[in-house]
Amino acid sequence: MKLGVIADDFTGAVDIAGFLVSGGMRTLMCAKPVATGQLPETDAIVMSLKIRSIPSSDAVKEALSALAFLQEAGCDRFYYKYCSTFDSTEKGNIGPISDALRAALGLSSTLICPSLPINRRTVYHGYLFVGDQLLSDSPMRHHPLNPMKMSKLADLLAMQSPATNGHVYYDVVRKGATAVKNRIDTLEKDGVNNIIVDVINDGDLTTIAKATEDMLLVTGGSGLAQGIAAVRAKALGERGTAKPAFLPKRTKAVVIAGSCSAMMQKQVAYYKEKAESFSIDEQACVDDPSYPETLAKWVFAHQGSTLAPMVFATRSPEELQYNREQRFKGVYLAGIIEQVFGKMTAILAQKGVETFIVGGGETSGVVASTLGVDAYLIGEQIDPGVSWVQSLDKKYQLVLKSGNFGCESFLEKAQECYDERN
Ligand code: ADP
Repeated sequence: MKLGVIADDFTGAVDIAGFLVSGGMRTLMCAKPVATGQLPETDAIVMSLKIRSIPSSDAVKEALSALAFLQEAGCDRFYYKYCSTFDSTEKGNIGPISDALRAALGLSSTLICPSLPINRRTVYHGYLFVGDQLLSDSPMRHHPLNPMKMSKLADLLAMQSPATNGHVYYDVVRKGATAVKNRIDTLEKDGVNNIIVDVINDGDLTTIAKATEDMLLVTGGSGLAQGIAAVRAKALGERGTAKPAFLPKRTKAVVIAGSCSAMMQKQVAYYKEKAESFSIDEQACVDDPSYPETLAKWVFAHQGSTLAPMVFATRSPEELQYNREQRFKGVYLAGIIEQVFGKMTAILAQKGVETFIVGGGETSGVVASTLGVDAYLIGEQIDPGVSWVQSLDKKYQLVLKSGNFGCESFLEKAQECYDERN
C-alpha cells in the first residue's frame, strides 16, 4: 500500500504525517505537486492544502487536483484528513469534498471517522464529543471561523451535501474488525454513502483500520492514521518500526519566534534562560530597511553555543494592545514583522544557515516560502503535532510549528533530537 493523504490544512498535515512516521511509514509531505520523477521512495505522501475555510467549490477543485497528483505519484489508497472537531460550516467543506473524492474514484461509500481519542475527541452513537462535552457544548461552539453548534455528524453532513449517512455503532465496534467489516458491507450494499463510525479509544481505531483495509478512500481526523500505521506495522514486523526518513544534524541554526500565543510566550521565556536571545525592535522593523541585515549579523555572531540563538517578536497581549492602539496605530505591524523575518531568513540562508526552528503558523509560512521549500521528508516527532522536517533537496532542516503547539521546553527539546554521531 502507498497511502495518499489530502489534508485540509498545514498543521493537520504535519499532525497526520507525524502519526504515520511514528508507525514506521516513510512519509513525504508536499504543499504543491512535485515532479513525480523527483520523488523519493516513501510509504505515504501527505498533500498539505489550505482548504478548510475557503468556498467549497474551490476546496473541491483543489482536493481533486491533489488526488490526481497522488494517483500519478503511485498512491493506491486515499485518506481525506480533516479536523477531529469536524471544523466546517453549514456550506461545506467536509461533505462536498468527500462526495467529490468518492465520485472521482468511482465509489459509492466512504468512512467518516473524526475521532482522536488521544486528544479526547470521540464519537458515540454518531455524536462527536470533546472531552466529556458534546462538540456543540464545547468551546468549539464559539470558533471564529466555523462555530460548531451541532454534534450529530449525520446532521452536520446532511447540511453540507445530499449524500446518505449510516452508522457503525459502538455495540458493533466492540465486537471487533470482522463485525465492523460485515456491518460496513451491509451499509455499502444498501447504498449508504457516508459510513459514520463510533470510536472511543485507540484500540477501536485499530479495529476500524483493520476492518477498512479494502476501502479505497477513508476520511477522518489524524486518529485513524494511527490505526492504519499500527495495522501495517504489525503486518510488516521489523520494518514497521523503521527509523524516520532522516535524523536532524547539528548545523548553523536559528530559532525564530514570531508567534505571540500563550504557549509561545512560555517557550520563549524558558528558552531565554538557556540560550542567546534577541528581542526585535518594532520601531526598527518599521523604519530601518537594513534591520534584517542587523538581525542576521547578530545570529551569526552567536553561533557556536550548543543551543541556537533566538530572535523573537513574541509579546504579551498587553504589549500587543499598546502597539496596536497607541505606538503603531494604523500600521500593519504584523505584516511588517513577517517581512523582516522573511528578509532575515533569506540573508541567513545565503550565508549558510541550514537549520530553522520557527514558532508561529504564518511566520513558518514566510520562512518556508522564502527558502523555497514546498516538499518535506518528515523526521522525528518532537511533540504531538510537530516533527522535524527536511527539504526534499536535503538542504534545509526545519521545525515549523503553530504558536500553541509543543511543551514549554519545546525549543530546547527540538535540538535534543540532533544526531550527534557525526
Ligand atoms: P500563531 O501560530 O501563534 O498564530 P503566527 O506566526 O501565525 O503565530 O502569527 C503571529 C503574527 O503576529 C505574525 O503575523 C507576526 O508577524 C505577528 N507579530 C509577532 N510579534 C508581533 C509584535 N511584537 N507586534 C505585532 N505583531 C506581531
